Amino acid sequence: MAMTLHHWRNGKTFEGTTDRFSDVTNPATGEVTAHLALATEDDVNAVVETAAAAFPKWRDTSLAARTQIVFRFRELLNARKLELAEIITAEHGKVLSDALGEVSRGQEVVEFACGIPHLLKGGFTENASTRVDVHSVRQPLGVVGIISPFNFPVMVPLWFFPLAIAAGNTVVLKPIEKVPTAALWLAELWKEAGLPDGVFNVVNGDKTAVDGLLTHPEVQSVSFVGSTPIARYVYETAAAHGKRVQALGGAKNHMIVLPDADLDLAADQAVNAGYGSAGERCMAISVVVAVGDIADELVRKIEERTAGLRTGDGTRGCDMGPLITAQAQQRVSGYIDAGEAAGATVVVDGRTVQPDSGGKGFFVGPTLFDHVTTDMSIYTDEIFGPVLSVVRVDSYDEAVRLVNDNPYGNGTAIFTNDGGAARQFSNEIKVGMIGINVPIPVPMAYYSFGGWKNSLFGDSHAHGTEGVHFFTRGKVITSRWLDPSHGGLNLGFPQNA
Ligand code: NAD
Repeated sequence: MAMTLHHWRNGKTFEGTTDRFSDVTNPATGEVTAHLALATEDDVNAVVETAAAAFPKWRDTSLAARTQIVFRFRELLNARKLELAEIITAEHGKVLSDALGEVSRGQEVVEFACGIPHLLKGGFTENASTRVDVHSVRQPLGVVGIISPFNFPVMVPLWFFPLAIAAGNTVVLKPIEKVPTAALWLAELWKEAGLPDGVFNVVNGDKTAVDGLLTHPEVQSVSFVGSTPIARYVYETAAAHGKRVQALGGAKNHMIVLPDADLDLAADQAVNAGYGSAGERCMAISVVVAVGDIADELVRKIEERTAGLRTGDGTRGCDMGPLITAQAQQRVSGYIDAGEAAGATVVVDGRTVQPDSGGKGFFVGPTLFDHVTTDMSIYTDEIFGPVLSVVRVDSYDEAVRLVNDNPYGNGTAIFTNDGGAARQFSNEIKVGMIGINVPIPVPMAYYSFGGWKNSLFGDSHAHGTEGVHFFTRGKVITSRWLDPSHGGLNLGFPQNA
């Protein structure tokens, strides 16, 4: 019988008061594996209040003690990452090696957070005015809310909470309904690492839970990752309630291939970044822009590579797993129908894929379109499936215009052996993360992750020093200790002397 999953509050399971539940499904088999409690407003309030109550003590816990707990969390995560990857594969469907990669990329942020004492160091100026010293500190915000999407149920929360916790905040994480187990597993890991109860909490739910976090007066900031319409809504609602917000949205990532590029490398990477995780990555390549007369050869090379890809259950050594839900499968197939009807050439058709594992999973195989034009929905929309579109252009300038005119600005890549062209591209392209002969340029933890335009609402990107700033407030202290010059009235504006 499928188990019921609840929330995590004050270091233990919290059942809450709801009578609403959603199904958690294994996308490779279609089997319902759990029922998830969807929080009521009262449940959200109870979890936020727990986090608020835990804040004063955690904030005042020494940096040395906080860091040791984060370090222990890192050790446990590293030792047990296969277990966590298996949970991801069972609920998300991505293949096990990909799930392990997701955990490792998230772990990098935990490692970065172990250096929080250095990251929080302020400045000190002696004698800024005569016998007056100035110093700056960064202090935690309080309760921070994190709302995550289905496609990275571990890595995306890990972009935020290690730094938030290390900096002295308390956390309420609202995972996506479809893939909730990993968050509860991480909560237990924190407990094992010695994190005090109430510092890391999980509230499961849907819009009710999200709205509860966006409007609760104790929640100081919201870190959101998901589709663009919801990111915009989260940004506007949370900001209207006085919160700091970073809301990362959707993407439509272009990979530009110049005529001088190594076409074998470009074809390999188009396949890896187009079909990895069944295209359900915000950094997936969905458009290959072939510049000049290389298009026929490039398409042929990509097509050849798709022939060897195995689609199936992620636990069985396949290359590509299923999509997240039956609806996602229908939506992606619908886009393929639309692309064909609009006149694009279907070079590889994933609608008829026979998964290695058989069964009732939500599979769509790798799909390749050629002769795609910018008015087609397969070009304009974020499909979030294994569908790669090739657009043919005559010049570098035309390729750049495509990327810069696109409403999304998450990631892009250029393949070329011309250093000058690559340099010009990285200078003039209006996108947050750029790869040069690298297809998925997810920055390292000590840099910050984030897109431009409709791919991010708010001012701060995730992790790196921007993450540290997001989860802390600056304070500047000007001090003078008693000395013979002390005292005297002067109602003028203080000036330095
Ligand atoms: P989603 O927008 O459906 O869900 C994200 C979160 O929003 C979930 O926690 C969900 O419960 C909540 N939510 C959904 N509907 C809501 C509503 N009406 N009101 C309030 N909250 C609501 O996104 P998804 O399908 O889980 O994830 C895929 C999307 O996320 C894609 O668009 C992808 O590009 C994007 N994404 C972006 C990044 C990035 O870094 N920019 C990273 C990963 C995923």
